[in-house]
Amino acid sequence: MNELFVKDFLALFEEEAPLALQEQYDNAGLLVGSPEQAVKSVMLCLDLSEAIVEQAAAKGCGLIIAHHPVIFKGLKSLGTRTEVERIVVSAIRKGISIMAMHTNLDNVFHGVNHIFAEKLGLENLHILRPVEGDLCKLVTFCPLSHAPAVREAMFEAKAGHIGNYDSCSFNSEGFGTFRALEGADPFVGQVGTIHSEPEIRIETIVPLHQLTAVVAAMTNAHPYQEVAYDVYPLKNANQGIGAGMVGTLKEPMSELEFLKHLGEVLGIPALRHNTLRGRMISKVAICGGSGAFLLPDARKAGADAFVTADIKYHDFFDAGLLLVDAGHYETEQFTPQLMARMIKKKFPTFAVLFSEHEYRAVHYFVKPQ
Ligand SMILES: [Zn+2]
Repeated sequence: MNELFVKDFLALFEEEAPLALQEQYDNAGLLVGSPEQAVKSVMLCLDLSEAIVEQAAAKGCGLIIAHHPVIFKGLKSLGTRTEVERIVVSAIRKGISIMAMHTNLDNVFHGVNHIFAEKLGLENLHILRPVEGDLCKLVTFCPLSHAPAVREAMFEAKAGHIGNYDSCSFNSEGFGTFRALEGADPFVGQVGTIHSEPEIRIETIVPLHQLTAVVAAMTNAHPYQEVAYDVYPLKNANQGIGAGMVGTLKEPMSELEFLKHLGEVLGIPALRHNTLRGRMISKVAICGGSGAFLLPDARKAGADAFVTADIKYHDFFDAGLLLVDAGHYETEQFTPQLMARMIKKKFPTFAVLFSEHEYRAVHYFVKPQ
């Protein structure tokens, strides 16, 4: 595949990690460039730097997709004063578009934490803090003949997904009544006469960010001129979306064995952790990047260890489990691989490149022995 457009990548990520799932403070999406720009290859990185823009230009990449949004706060000028300004100006001059896939990629099940968990060898994975208020129940009433097609259309648009199951719905038979008024062109019944039609009540669950698409698919497949449907907000948490992840190691490890394993997987020369208490580590909670806010959730999930980054000094006291700060870069370093997988799945022959020198904001000085 020689050429795609920036909008193809926006559509791909909208399927894998919809922008509606990003946190309120975030700025994920297309930051520089146009959806209509043609792209021959894409470069992936965690953080963007001037050097990476240069690399992308040298390799002919028309698009860079980074995890962290290079434009996070408002820019008041586009000059050479700050690195962010220089990156943006340089990308515009070189005709390179920039996208960021940030907390939307953190919050999906097969996202930043899933690949981190996979590298650590964790199994039985669950979202650590599933998001609440994201689900609704959608109910529609459909003549018997069209119920399979309407159900299928709703499932295709991602309704009816619960944990490891899809195509979930409940169906009950009854009858609907209606009278078509002057000007109507009813699918069944006569204008001016009250009609009674055997119908199926189809109820299914829909994440709010998918609701518009599901309602559109449902009304498209439905034979009635006016489709009756109800949307009920639900209090259920959406187990497939949220922050952090928890899983179990194949074999329990001692605390030291676990720290060694973590250090090796992440290639980090030092780990900050609280006092070792001789626990065996089996259940592990993780959150790539700044996840200290999930400490209560890790405890509630019964985790023996919680691995994240940017942990404050006082969080290490009384954590109630093995608390490890494994670095922001290090715990998110697999994200470009994750994005590459998503792109390769949809566009297997498209050229995907990784930035040669990952930008490291934090370095470790290790005192020679
Ligand atoms: Zn991060």
